[in-house]
Amino acid sequence: MNRPYNFSAGPAAIPEEVLQQAAAEMLDWHGSGMSVMEMSHRGKEFVAICEQAEADLRELLAIPPEFKILFMQGGGLGENAIVPLNLSRAATVDFVVTGGWSQKSRKEAGKYAAEVHTAASSEASSFTTLPDPASWQLSRGASYVHICSNETIHGVEFHQLPDLKALGSDAPLVVDFSSHVASRPVDWSRVGLAFGGAQKNLGPAGVTLVVVREDLIGHALPICPSAFDYKNVANNDSRYNTPPTWGIYVAGLTFQWIKRQREGDLPGIAAMEARNIAKARLLYDFIDQSGLYLNKVAPNCRSRMNVPFLLNNNALDEAFLAGAKERGLLQLKGHKSVGGMRASIYNAMPLAGVQALVAYMREFERQRA
Ligand SMILES: *Cc1c(COP(=O)(O)O)cnc(C)c1O
Repeated sequence: MNRPYNFSAGPAAIPEEVLQQAAAEMLDWHGSGMSVMEMSHRGKEFVAICEQAEADLRELLAIPPEFKILFMQGGGLGENAIVPLNLSRAATVDFVVTGGWSQKSRKEAGKYAAEVHTAASSEASSFTTLPDPASWQLSRGASYVHICSNETIHGVEFHQLPDLKALGSDAPLVVDFSSHVASRPVDWSRVGLAFGGAQKNLGPAGVTLVVVREDLIGHALPICPSAFDYKNVANNDSRYNTPPTWGIYVAGLTFQWIKRQREGDLPGIAAMEARNIAKARLLYDFIDQSGLYLNKVAPNCRSRMNVPFLLNNNALDEAFLAGAKERGLLQLKGHKSVGGMRASIYNAMPLAGVQALVAYMREFERQRA
């Protein structure tokens, strides 16, 4: 019996192979006589798990040696505070506001940064477009520029990271990549720091990934909690205090799963990207030719991970969701701030899941034509 397809935006589907391996190792990890949940975070077993996860991620995402990989707690929202506490140096920080998540990040930074400046916003288009980087009003001497590279609620994605140097800015780019990390390669030459909660595309909730250039570490404000000072976390290999050990372990299994993936000749992240492009194209092409479903995002900035769509008559929403659930298509209800539906199609969603969704959408539309 196949498991249903889970379109949740997060916590989201985890590859079945990963769940099975975690289940098989639940009571006794590799002959240690312990579950990973029962191990000392400083013991040799867990240290090996953590080091392997870090090495696999560094390889998969081609993270250069001058960047530290930190496994933290606090989630994406935690980092909304932790980033300004570590990087703002009590100066101005710039925000590019492109949806619900960057809006939230900007608000939180206002508690810690001396000044928060909105360099660009796509609010006038109800966040259905992205502002052209050439039009951004970057401040001189900003401590950093924050973007959310994939807006999980509004379904917009930067298909390329902005090149701040080419825009005349020396500020490091801070990227919230919570909802599309590991869905495509990252151009690290354009990044100062990237963060993401694990529960969208990496593993269970509880672990937060931070990838930060070394020269940005060590400048925390005096009020920064010690456990959230990147210097303490980095100097102790993510074990300054007890890290989310189970989350790191399952994320590590997911990294190994990604390493095993192939799409034609493409391995790992390149395979994920090719598959994600194919999945997104199938769904958007179907929506665009349909008379019932509508996605309002400009085609050149549509998210490959989160596909919000409306039915042209919202009285049909409940029937759509009920029929989907009957067919094993779960958690398609849209975010309350935009309504309608949202299909999140992260790495763990196979092409067959998107095909099943499109087949159902087609049938639902036909029945009402
Ligand atoms: C889910 C999400 C967050 C919030 O993460 P939490 O772990 O719930 O704090 C932040 N940013 C983006 C882009 C997200 O998708």
